Amino acid sequence: MQLFLAHSEADGTLATAALEALAATMQLSEALGVPFTVGLIGDNPGPAADSLTACGAARILTVSGPAFGQARYATDAAAAEVLCRAAGASIITVPATSRWNRVLPGVAHRLGGRCDTHVTGLGAADGQPQVSRWFYRQRMEAVFTRRTRPWLLALEGGIATAAALGNRQAQGPAPIESIPLTLDAPRTQVTGFEAPAADQQTIRPDANLLFVTGAGWTKKQADGQVKVAAAEALILDFLRLSRASLGSTKSLVDLGGEGQAILPFLSHLNQVGQTGATPRHAKGLATCCHGEEPHTVGWRFIGERRAISLDANCGWARGKADILYVADAFAVLGKVNELLAQ
Ligand SMILES: Cc1cc2nc3c(=O)[nH]c(=O)nc-3n(C[C@H](O)[C@H](O)[C@H](O)COP(=O)(O)OP(=O)(O)OC[C@H]3O[C@@H](n4cnc5c(N)ncnc54)[C@H](O)[C@@H]3O)c2cc1C
Repeated sequence: MQLFLAHSEADGTLATAALEALAATMQLSEALGVPFTVGLIGDNPGPAADSLTACGAARILTVSGPAFGQARYATDAAAAEVLCRAAGASIITVPATSRWNRVLPGVAHRLGGRCDTHVTGLGAADGQPQVSRWFYRQRMEAVFTRRTRPWLLALEGGIATAAALGNRQAQGPAPIESIPLTLDAPRTQVTGFEAPAADQQTIRPDANLLFVTGAGWTKKQADGQVKVAAAEALILDFLRLSRASLGSTKSLVDLGGEGQAILPFLSHLNQVGQTGATPRHAKGLATCCHGEEPHTVGWRFIGERRAISLDANCGWARGKADILYVADAFAVLGKVNELLAQ
């Protein structure tokens, strides 16, 4: 038996990441010919459970209550453990949300199983599940299987198209069963969330475009002047108009730590590359960036790559970009913003 685990959102529904992981689970179940159960946790996972009764699951198990609506190790791990045991599952899949990534290794330990996180592909060969995962900072991809069961897998976002919850059931809708779980009062209380205002949040995983800034924005330009204020205005305008997600090179985010004038809305969280993030977007546009390997290795999961650099001999020109514009990014972005604003 396979088990798909998810937590419901505040409104009781499932997030896109969960529906993507569900789709990958359904494909694996079909490839292996093994049925799957759905396990849901949340304050009120009822709407999510109702939406899944026709997805082809054999059973839908829920652990519900106010304590399970909050992301907290003790309650999430206990709920996951009880659902895994109730389902008797040998392969357990979850969406790789921060909430699941935090508890999955602990749940695997409690069950005497093994866990793999950051799974970027799920398939079957010789009747066994096979997973893909990148190692050594996304430089090497391994495809492997394990004999240990239960095997718990955290599936990265974007590896499958979100499940369309049409009518797939063969023998009527899946029954929804509530699994009782009583815990001592948790010591950790969630008192609320703090999030930056929507227009200050520059990392947007759902955006179609990744817009990357490089150290060139802070370098002396053709007239001998540094134009950080102009760069800041152009970049913020572009982000506002395009709703792109903002990435950066390490050189640019490091400049802040060195006390130089930089773009204040950038932090190491924006850094893309070997020692940064490996985001997933349909398109990417690098500006004022040299396209060196430790940076471009973070572009592994970017579909179409374009770059604007003054240097016709930069790394992008050597096979790393689909299109390189040898041009002044200040001029290009000014024109692009003008067109976007129309
Ligand atoms: C172990 C290790 C790990 C690393 N990890 C990372 C990582 O995770 N991420 C990362 O980014 N780097 C990483 N680096 C650093 C990486 O090697 C590069 O030093 C860095 O990416 C260079 O940043 P850059 O392209 O922004 O700057 P630069 O190399 O300074 O390039 C600036 C570019 O801007 C261009 N330019 C200037 N003005 C304009 C203009 N007006 N219009 C258009 N173009 C212009 C210039 O021609 C130049 O090509 C790592 C290095 C090491 C050794």
